[in-house]
Amino acid sequence: MADYNKPLPIVTQDSEPYWNAAKAHEFRMQRCTDCGAFRFPPTHACWQCLSTNLEWAALSGRGTIWSFTVMHQIYYKGFADEMPYPVIVVELEEGPRIASNIVDCKREDLRIGMPVQVVFEDVTPAVTLPKFRPA
Ligand SMILES: [Zn+2]
Repeated sequence: MADYNKPLPIVTQDSEPYWNAAKAHEFRMQRCTDCGAFRFPPTHACWQCLSTNLEWAALSGRGTIWSFTVMHQIYYKGFADEMPYPVIVVELEEGPRIASNIVDCKREDLRIGMPVQVVFEDVTPAVTLPKFRPA
């Protein structure tokens, strides 16, 4: 953990509860308490009704791979040992889509529509990243 050398999230006032939940191994996203729309990435106002009222709703962590790509360029040295590696976009059961990484899955086994489940990787003492594994 101490030698983690990949990019880390920039925590903002809006996103801090998201990262705090991840650190507790809870998967939560903003949900508008006026219209029910989920908003991700976290924002100050609802994209649907402009309300600033929200709750941090617990998600199932289940979804399907909506898209993926395989990175062949080393943009960050921290990924050099994993080249080439996939980046996935998961469509969550509740609707939002999230870009992430897949674990416990061979690159050649990745498929659009594959069911996945969130897992949490404690990458530094302060940061936990939600990732996904095949369900
Ligand atoms: Zn709303």
